[in-house]
Amino acid sequence: MPIPQQLLPRLRPRAEHRPTATRTPSGPSLRVRWLGTAGHVISTDETTVLVDPFLTRPGLRGLLRPLEPDLDAIERWVPREVDAVLVGHSHYDHLLDAPAIARSREAILVGSGTTAAVARAAGVSPEKIRVVPPGGLSLRVGDLEISFVPSLHGRIFLGKVPFPGEWTHAPPLPLYAPQYRMGGAYGILIRAGARTLYHNGSADLVDAEIAGRHADVVLAGLAGRKATRDYLTRLTGCLGPRVLVPTHHDAFFGPLELGERLLPGVDLNGFFRETRAVAPDARVVTPLYHDDVVIPLEGDPRDIAIVERTA
Ligand SMILES: [Zn+2]
Repeated sequence: MPIPQQLLPRLRPRAEHRPTATRTPSGPSLRVRWLGTAGHVISTDETTVLVDPFLTRPGLRGLLRPLEPDLDAIERWVPREVDAVLVGHSHYDHLLDAPAIARSREAILVGSGTTAAVARAAGVSPEKIRVVPPGGLSLRVGDLEISFVPSLHGRIFLGKVPFPGEWTHAPPLPLYAPQYRMGGAYGILIRAGARTLYHNGSADLVDAEIAGRHADVVLAGLAGRKATRDYLTRLTGCLGPRVLVPTHHDAFFGPLELGERLLPGVDLNGFFRETRAVAPDARVVTPLYHDDVVIPLEGDPRDIAIVERTA
């Protein structure tokens, strides 16, 4: 990725994809706040979980050094109260900050054996770690039912999954970016009341694992999606979402303060076109960093609202 963050084109959402509201609609809701990359804060009135939170975002030069979490960025953007940190796979742009957040928020950390090994190395106490076996795991956190669904990682570079492999023992930290081995990939299904949301943090899937499941809202990881045959057709065909939210389509080689920039090659307009063709009834919603997407727990999930961040 030889292009500095500030030279990449800005992500400019279309008005039709931004049902903005000036205040949070009343009534019970599931809220989703984008932290950049595949990172999200997902909350109800009772429970807050993070999925793949990644705030450190080292620049191109920083990536040549061993990676350390940026504790100031974490304090700035991560809520104080967090019940669980969920990690879909163990690459640095999903895992780097998760152990530090789990420690500072006294939250449980849930992820693969590789994620667990890195978390132990980072000093997360073993009783706070839930290891997801290759076949998946379901658990309850507060009023959320959470299932880790076996999935696949998109083939990002030259048709290959970057940095494959696992950690079976706690590695010596800090690690360089390529040492954040992928470690197995999961989609994460979250149920609040009757409402379901599926986070697909990397652009591939296992059809048999999502067959028969339903998600009202799908957060669709887009990085590398073109290497996956019929990605959106299969993802939406199985899960039948009423709302689609693109994610992991932003460049992440500079601080969040530089704003949303498009990851080269992600073709967001192509995603919109394809969505209209394969899921014409689904509403596309495009948050910006730190917006709250408010999904009503009752009624039509498409009655969704974006409450914009305030400076
Ligand atoms: Zn990855």
